[in-house]
Amino acid sequence: MEASIPLSPTDPAHPSPDQLVDRLLASGLRGRGGGWFPAGLKWKAVRAEEGEPVVIANGAEGEPGSFKDRYVMAKRADDVVRGLRLAAHAVGAREAIVFLKGSYNRPADALEAALASAGLDGLAVSLRRGDDSYIAGEETAVLEVLEGRRAWPRPKPPRPSAVGLEGRPTLVQNVETLARVPAAVDDPEAYRATETTFVTIWGDVRRPGVCEVPLGTPIRDLIEKQGGGTPDGVGLVFPGGPAGPPLGPDEIDTPLDPDALRAAGTTLGAATLLVVGSSACPLAVAASVAGFYERENCGQCPPCAVGTASLARILRSLESGGARPRDLRDLGDVAGFMSGHGYCAHCRAAADVATGLARRLADAVEAHMTSGGCPEPGRRHPDPFAPASTERAVVEAAATEQLR
Ligand code: SF4
Repeated sequence: MEASIPLSPTDPAHPSPDQLVDRLLASGLRGRGGGWFPAGLKWKAVRAEEGEPVVIANGAEGEPGSFKDRYVMAKRADDVVRGLRLAAHAVGAREAIVFLKGSYNRPADALEAALASAGLDGLAVSLRRGDDSYIAGEETAVLEVLEGRRAWPRPKPPRPSAVGLEGRPTLVQNVETLARVPAAVDDPEAYRATETTFVTIWGDVRRPGVCEVPLGTPIRDLIEKQGGGTPDGVGLVFPGGPAGPPLGPDEIDTPLDPDALRAAGTTLGAATLLVVGSSACPLAVAASVAGFYERENCGQCPPCAVGTASLARILRSLESGGARPRDLRDLGDVAGFMSGHGYCAHCRAAADVATGLARRLADAVEAHMTSGGCPEPGRRHPDPFAPASTERAVVEAAATEQLR
């Protein structure tokens, strides 16, 4: 992530705002908050608006198991601040805010130190902390919190680029994305040719934690080389944690790449890669994901609040063997209704994940319905997405070590 362009906009060698946008577009850098949207297009959209723009560095990472953003803030704080300065210059902002969760003390200390030692050339940067809820990391929920309200996502459109913080054009950019900006604008071609990404690998692996790997690394390599392998063999892999349906053991040669994973029917999301061993009941893990969506919806959109509860109930009854054939039909109907609704992606993602799970685990579903319960009683029934799960406790312990 080393870059050589001068950081002060007053330096004659510093690229102009238009050059910065062009370089970022040429680098192909895509947002690491989960959406993988081209960062240069976001910058361009904010630049096109009238008004006093503001930049928000979003470090309010909240996906279960993930700590790659905390890692970037703690270990690459200088890069985050450099990226923030370049972004502010590109969109014409004189104000920037770094937003992170209230419990992220180590990242906050590192960012404060980086801000104190950086010459900010008149850019006013403040560090703000919100609560630890998952939904408080959604980009428009961040705006609500910064305006003093509860973390409820806003309906879109309008996008924050047009109507954001206090109605101003607002660039909300994930902290890992910002940390990549200096290298991306410094040499776009080299960046594109050697692009890496941070991944949190957790679950049934010997070495959970954060690593940085080239985009396109086969998931199998990641599990074996970075994660140290799976003691009982791979059963399922959720490349984006709860954000998409899992891959089976026959699909783990898929590259860790957002487009390849979309083609495989899932998503990379925030690269929160959960490995589930072959001794676990797959329907227990399916019910665990559905429980995450039920628990974390903010409650303001009835299709999401009611739909996530229905999906969780159906998946729990599939796991326990109490489901009837009509429950499967109901699952499809509920998911179909949900997919067109919701102020944020939570509602649609819950629907996609539930239908993807039902399709991918069709054999397990049938076996559970035929047996009236888990056909292999010796299997583990983990709940990895639960707040107090063993899997989350183990990866949090790894985070404590890696963030030192
Ligand atoms: S879709 Fe769900 S999580 Fe998103 S705003 Fe609506 S109720 Fe809240």
